Amino acid sequence: MQLHSLSRSPAIACFSDFDGTVTDEDSNDFMIDNMGMGRLARRELLLKVLNEGLPFREAFRAMIASVAANYSFPECCAKVKEANIKLDPGFKAFYEFVRAKGIPFVLISSGMTPIIRSIVGTLIGKEEASKITIIANDVDIWDESGSAGNWGVKFRHPDSPFGHDKDVAISDFKAQDPNIITFFCGDGLSDMSAARSATMREGSGDDLAAHCEKEDIPFEGFRNFHEVRKSVEAVLDGRIQASDLCAGRAGGTIVS
Ligand SMILES: [Mg+2]
Repeated sequence: MQLHSLSRSPAIACFSDFDGTVTDEDSNDFMIDNMGMGRLARRELLLKVLNEGLPFREAFRAMIASVAANYSFPECCAKVKEANIKLDPGFKAFYEFVRAKGIPFVLISSGMTPIIRSIVGTLIGKEEASKITIIANDVDIWDESGSAGNWGVKFRHPDSPFGHDKDVAISDFKAQDPNIITFFCGDGLSDMSAARSATMREGSGDDLAAHCEKEDIPFEGFRNFHEVRKSVEAVLDGRIQASDLCAGRAGGTIVS
């Protein structure tokens, strides 16, 4: 992956989780809660990831398998489209901002690429969606149609306990420019692998915030991408150091 802004000072790259961060609702959670094991069982597994060392990969594999046991993959895609998942109210303005400034932006997700592409295309239009770099897990289909019981998540990094180690994409940029400032936006436990490597983390969800607090990782809470844009803009303009964006759950270091 090539950097586009190495001449900029400071060089910045932005990464974001997709489900529940760029969108108001997590499409995986929607499927698991409504079509698979249900919310209670999902939360029990996530608590085991957070507190008992269960690899996120195994938790997520089991969650998706519970959906796949009941529904075909095409049925899942259709149900997620019907779920009326909405874009974060500030995302479009944020995306236009980073594009105008030549700041690389990458979606890094533990979700499955075909579902993410479908949702992004619906939300911002297929042409714009095709310009966004998406690095995600994929889907494994074991028969011709992905019928119930014949599909599952195909992990990008099957040997990693995260299934998709989001740090790899961030480290790739850092390898090209060790001084680059990397922003990562996320909300859930699938973002744990990225939380430590990024210069700044923004957590809008309780799970990632709880992880950062437990591991003593500084982060800046945010409510929407309008706030993220303000933070990135302030660092870009030299009004604040990225390391000073560390207000925890309350966020709000940049107020205007
Ligand atoms: Mg998420």
